[in-house]
Amino acid sequence: MTILTADQHAHLQRTPFPRATIAGYPRIGPERELKRALEAHWADRITAGELDSAAHSLRLDAYRRLQELGLREDWAIPLDFALYDHVLETALTVGLLGGEAAHIDHGEYFALARGTQERQPLEMTKWFDTNYHYLVPEVADAAPLRPRPERLVALVAEARDAGVLARPVLVGPVTLLALSKAAPGAGRPLDRLPELVAAYARVLAALHEAGVAWVQLDEPALVADLDAAPDAELAGLAEDAYRTLLGAQDRPQVLVGAPYGTLRAGLGALASAAPEALAVDLSPAVLAQDPDYPRRLGREVPARTRLVAGCIDGRNVWTAELRGGLEVLATLGRGADVSVTTSTSLLHVPYTLAAETGLPVDVAGWLSFAAEKVIEVEALAAALAAGDPAVRAEAFARSDRARRTRAASGRTHDAAVRARTAGLPARVEREPLAQRRAAQERLGLPELPTTTIGSFPQTPEIRRARADVRAGRIGEEEYAALMREEIARVVRLQEQLGLDVVVHGEPERNDMVQYFAEHLEGFTTTARGWVQSYGSRCTRPPILFGDVSRPAPITVPWSQYAAGLTDRPVKGMLTGPVTILAWSFVRDDEPLSVPAAQLGVALGDEVADLERAGIPIVQVDEPALRELLPLRADARAAYLEWAVRAFRLVAFDAAAATQIHTHLCYSEFGQILTAIEALDADVTSIEAARSRMELLGELEEGFESQLGPGIYDIHSPRVPGVDELAELLRAALTRVPAGRLWVNPDCGLKTRGYAEVEAALRNLVAARDRVRAEA
Ligand code: GLN
Ligand code: ZN
Repeated sequence: MTILTADQHAHLQRTPFPRATIAGYPRIGPERELKRALEAHWADRITAGELDSAAHSLRLDAYRRLQELGLREDWAIPLDFALYDHVLETALTVGLLGGEAAHIDHGEYFALARGTQERQPLEMTKWFDTNYHYLVPEVADAAPLRPRPERLVALVAEARDAGVLARPVLVGPVTLLALSKAAPGAGRPLDRLPELVAAYARVLAALHEAGVAWVQLDEPALVADLDAAPDAELAGLAEDAYRTLLGAQDRPQVLVGAPYGTLRAGLGALASAAPEALAVDLSPAVLAQDPDYPRRLGREVPARTRLVAGCIDGRNVWTAELRGGLEVLATLGRGADVSVTTSTSLLHVPYTLAAETGLPVDVAGWLSFAAEKVIEVEALAAALAAGDPAVRAEAFARSDRARRTRAASGRTHDAAVRARTAGLPARVEREPLAQRRAAQERLGLPELPTTTIGSFPQTPEIRRARADVRAGRIGEEEYAALMREEIARVVRLQEQLGLDVVVHGEPERNDMVQYFAEHLEGFTTTARGWVQSYGSRCTRPPILFGDVSRPAPITVPWSQYAAGLTDRPVKGMLTGPVTILAWSFVRDDEPLSVPAAQLGVALGDEVADLERAGIPIVQVDEPALRELLPLRADARAAYLEWAVRAFRLVAFDAAAATQIHTHLCYSEFGQILTAIEALDADVTSIEAARSRMELLGELEEGFESQLGPGIYDIHSPRVPGVDELAELLRAALTRVPAGRLWVNPDCGLKTRGYAEVEAALRNLVAARDRVRAEA
C-alpha cells in the first residue's frame, strides 16, 4: 500500500470538477453483450473468467466511446458499472451485504441477485419512478459492516491503465438504507446510518489512496417522499452523514447527486454540509413541476459547492432544448461557474439513435438517446464556457430544428384528436353500479365465477410464427391462421377445464404495451432501443411522440373469432391508458393527462367495437396504476385524478349490460385503494396470492364492486394444490361476500408452461367447486 505524498494529496483535493459529465451510463452493452455473457455464465456455457473479460471489454469500450463523444476531461467519465445491479454493487462494496472473504466472487454476488437452491434471492423493486428494478438489501441488526473496496479500486486501476481517470459512483448512504428493508426481527435500517457512514469513510479513504480525485454519491432518496422516513427526517440524517463523511481528511472530493426530482428539506441539509459539488435534476419535466428550483439552488447552495446542472434529461428520449438549457443555467446565478450533466443516469435510455434505421425521419430528428445526450451535455457546457452557442453551432442547430418542427408537426397536434378530447364531458360516468349489475345478469354466471387474466402460455411455436412474419418468411394471412389455431386450442382448453368466462389467450401480442403502441397513431417503436429492466432483462419501450388515435380496430377480430367458438361469455382484453404510458417513453411537450385522455378515447372506441361484435365483457388492464404515482406526496392527488379519468373514458360509453373488468398487479395497492374504487369497474382482479389475501384486510368498507383477488401465484412454476387454493378462497370469503367474489389467478399466464397452467387451472376450478358446495 502506498501512502500519498503531501503534494499528491493536495493535488487530488484541488482538481476541479469537469465542466461536462454524465450522471451514469448504460452497462448492458449496445448489442446487449452483458446480457448474453451473464446468461451464458448462468447456463455454465462460459466461465467466471470469460464473464469478467466480457465485462472488462464493455467497460473499456464505454470509456472510449464517451471520450469520443466529448467527455475528455479527467473525472468526467462515471465508473458506475454493475454486473447485475448498482444497489447490490454498492451494498457489497460498503459491506452492508456480503460475507467475510476479502474478495467478492461471482458465487456470492449471484446468490444474492438470483438465489440458490437453499436461499431466496433478494427482493426486487422499482427504482424510484423508473422502470428499472433494483435488489432490496435486507439489513440485520447484528452483522458488522465490513467494507470491501478492493473490487472498486481494481476498476479504478483498470480504467487508469486504459488512460482514463474515471469517477467512481456509489449509491449514497442515506438512500442505500432508505431503500433497504429490515431482516426479520431487525430494527429500522436507517438506524444503522452512523455505522454505515463509517464504512463509507473507509471506502472513500481507499479510493483516495488509489489516487481518485472525485467520487459521486447519489442520494435520490432526498427527492422523494418515501415510507422509510419523512422528508425532514431524511434531510436531517443526510446532513449529519455528510458532515461526518466530509470531515475526513483522506478522501476524494465528493459530488453528491440528487437525480429524479427536486430537493426540498434535503437542499438545506446538503447546502449546509457543503460537499465539493452537488448535481441536481434540472430536466424540463422536473422544472415543469417545480419552476422555482434553479433560483432556490442559486440562493441556498454555498459558493464553495460547485453546482452540476442536470439540464439534459437522462430518462427520456427527446432532443434537448439547448437554448432553454442556457437560460436555466443563467438562473442559477453562477455565470459560467457551473458544470453540466444529465439529470439522471443514462441507464434508462437506449445507447444510440444511430442503431435505428426504421424510425419516421421527422420523429428521428426529435430524439436523443444516450450518445446524442452526451453530445448535448458537452455542447451546453462549451457554449456556457464560451458565452456563445456558436462554438457548438451544429448541436444548437439540431436542437433548434427539433423544437421547431416538433411544435409545428401535425403528428404532435392532430386537430381531430384535440377536438374530440375538448368535447368530452367534465364528469365521465356510467350508470350506477347496481343498475349495471342487474343488466349484466344476462351473462348467466354462476356464483363464484371463474376466469383467467388474459394471456395463455406463449409457446415456442407462437414466438416462431411472430419471428417468421416479421422476417417475411410467412405472410400475414398465414400468421393470422396460426394465431386462430392457437385461439381455438385455448378456447377448447378453457371449456374442458370448466372456466366460466373465456379469453382468447393473447397469442398475437408480443407485449401488452408494445402491441397497442404498434396499432395506434402517435407511437413509434425502435428496432434496437433496449434498456435494462433488471439484471440481464431488457425491454424496448415504445416512443409516444404525438397525438394518439386509433386508425382501425385492434383486438376485435381476435376476440370475435374466439366468441364464435364457444357459448360461454368471452372477455375482450385491452391494456389501459396509464399502463401504456408507464411502459413507454412519453412525450414531454404536454402534461401526461393529455395523452392519457387521448388513449382513453381511442380505447373507448375499441370497447364500442367489441360491444358491436357481441363481446359482453371487456377487461382493461392497469397493472401500472401504482407505478406512476409521483415521488412527492403533494403531487399524487392530481395524478390519480387524471389517471382515473383516463380509465373511465375507456369504459364510460359502454352499455350497462357490458361488464367492465380491470386488473392490477406488481405493486402494493394499499395507498391507492380509493383510486382503484374510483375506476368504477364492475369487476377488479388483483394480485393477492403471495401476500395471502393481506390486501383484503385494507379493502373492507366501501368497495362495492365485484372482486377477484388472485388465488394462484403465477410468478412461480409451482402448481398450487386444491387444498391450498380452497384455503385462500375461504380467506377471501371472510372479507368479500360470495355474491361479489370471483375466482382467478394473480396475473396472465404467458410466462408459464402448459403443463403447469393446465394442472393449476384444473385445481382452481376444483377448489371453487369445493368451496361453493360448503356454502
Ligand atoms: N392481460 C394481461 C395478461 O394476461 C395482463 C398482464 C399484466 O397484468 N401484467 O397477460
Ligand atoms: Zn397482472
